Amino acid sequence: MILVFLGPPGSGKGTQAKNLSKEFGLLHISTGDLLRDAVKRATPLGLKAKEYMERGELVPDSLILSLIEEVMPLESGFILDGFPRTIAQAIALEDMLKKHGKEIDKVILFDVSEEVVVDRLSGRLTCSQCGEVYHKKYNPPKQEGICDVCGGKLIQREDDKEEVIRKRFRVYQEQTRPLIDFYRERDKLISLNATLSVEEVKEKLLEAIKDGN
Ligand code: ADP
Ligand code: AMP
Repeated sequence: MILVFLGPPGSGKGTQAKNLSKEFGLLHISTGDLLRDAVKRATPLGLKAKEYMERGELVPDSLILSLIEEVMPLESGFILDGFPRTIAQAIALEDMLKKHGKEIDKVILFDVSEEVVVDRLSGRLTCSQCGEVYHKKYNPPKQEGICDVCGGKLIQREDDKEEVIRKRFRVYQEQTRPLIDFYRERDKLISLNATLSVEEVKEKLLEAIKDGN
């Protein structure tokens, strides 16, 4: 199964992708996580991507596409979280899959408003070691400031400051929202009300994958 999770930053794509990938044995490919790792290790990709990410802008398509080509598995199913984010990326993905006789099964749209995004991202805490995600109010760690999974220090991402959050939402509206029509025309799109609780969204997601609507 090949799934694409589409939606603004903070809509809960990563949270649901982590759950679902475990349950269904699918690889979770988050371009945001891969880029942050590249920045941390100061690889050539990381050095090029860093400034775009800090400004809340999209990293150029050419860099993202070579990254995806490197990590996309040919044998197993996977969830793409945060990719594609432009029409050019979506077309390149379609071509890449077609070359291997594959196609996307479903595109799940995580539908939320800007205010929900700001509330979620300004309270998001991320583990500096393993990347596990928490929320100050909605999903707090057992011990303040410490990751439940690995004991690492929890931090606020640099791009989770209100000004950058609003910029990222604008970038989503301008460059990523057009993908909704792109996938609707291809009959792949399933829209979820992502303002519900984590458990409720999970339930809807499981139904959507099962029924296809
Ligand atoms: P995305 O991957 O789309 O950027 P995340 O999964 O990282 O979003 O979620 C953003 C923040 O919102 C995190 O702090 C997460 O714990 C929290 N969160 C995710 N889903 C929900 C939800 N359904 N209700 C409340 N908070 C949520
Ligand atoms: P995310 O963790 O998905 O919120 O992504 C964090 C940042 O990484 C974004 O604000 C972009 O700068 C960059 N990024 C992640 N995925 C992509 C993509 N598919 N295309 C371009 N930039 C991306």
